[in-house]
Amino acid sequence: MAKERVKVLIIGSGPAGFTAAIYAARAGMKPVLYQGGQPGGQLTITTDVENYPGYPEGIMGPQMMVDFQKQAERFGTDIRSGMITGVDFSGWPHKVTVDNKQEIEAEAVIISTGASAKWLGLESEQRLNGRGVSACAVCDGFFFRGQDVAIVGAGDTAAEEATYLSKLVNKVYMLVRRDEMRASKIMQQRVMNAPNIEVLWNTETVEVQGDEEVDGVKVKNTETGEERVLPVQGFFVAIGHKPNTDIFKGFIDMDEAGYIKTIPGTSKTNVPGVFATGDAQDKNYRQAVTAAGSGCMGALDAERFIAEKEVEMQEAAV
Ligand code: NDP
Repeated sequence: MAKERVKVLIIGSGPAGFTAAIYAARAGMKPVLYQGGQPGGQLTITTDVENYPGYPEGIMGPQMMVDFQKQAERFGTDIRSGMITGVDFSGWPHKVTVDNKQEIEAEAVIISTGASAKWLGLESEQRLNGRGVSACAVCDGFFFRGQDVAIVGAGDTAAEEATYLSKLVNKVYMLVRRDEMRASKIMQQRVMNAPNIEVLWNTETVEVQGDEEVDGVKVKNTETGEERVLPVQGFFVAIGHKPNTDIFKGFIDMDEAGYIKTIPGTSKTNVPGVFATGDAQDKNYRQAVTAAGSGCMGALDAERFIAEKEVEMQEAAV
């Protein structure tokens, strides 16, 4: 196997990874960034981004990620296509395998692998994705001002997003598959207090309807078997996210859902020299701007770590 040694290896190419790259490159650390299976990350499957500061007219998600990449390249980031297929953080330098064939040794690793929204798995949901179907109310709710929408899910995210949407849209149908919600009591209370949210219990989604854009959603009551079509223009899926962290299992501390644990106020994991940024370690905010901010933290933490390591190695050599 071919071996290579790098100072800073960044895994992932969303806002967190590219921001880490911009900072690390400008600090002279010659970062190498692997883009992973979805170059540009989750923003490449959204349309307009209107809540990222600095773009008063908004920007398309895919274009934004092209700009992030250009900025990272401008300062010398070595951007490569490829998947990280294995890691070994048991010693130092850290070992990372690319596409099951190439091994890289890295002085610092910045994990920015993001998370993926869970989907129901309906053909119609995928076909109309970005055309009325969304997995992010905070990103896309604004486009449905004054319209009717449905949201599926019954956890804290769904309750929070239903409440968020209720302030923007005319009516929200919340589709709950059981006869109770998993969301915390306070979140449920907010849902119940919103006059324009109607909770449909024991309800599953049969299909999202519409040719070019969503114009309805067919639902089924699992108790009675009755089917009906809700005339909505937006369909939000809020049934959870999965952090893309499987390959790190057993090497770094994670919570039960797979989110990487970091020392509060830093990007440090329990392994010295391994830093976690963006959605891979954030189940609460999950915004491009918070991911970018944590990418910056990752690069600054990595820079300090490498500087301390160099001092240690110099002292050991004397
Ligand atoms: P959760 O896993 O907590 O909830 C997912 C919800 O989606 C469940 O109600 C589940 O139903 C439902 N669901 C799953 N699959 C389907 C399906 N195929 N069809 C219909 N419904 C489905 O995910 P969340 O994203 O809500 O929350 C993740 C974590 O983040 C939690 O720990 C949560 O507390 C936390 N969080 C906290 C917030 C806060 O404190 N402000 C805000 C957002 C999240 P069922 O209940 O039947 O399994």
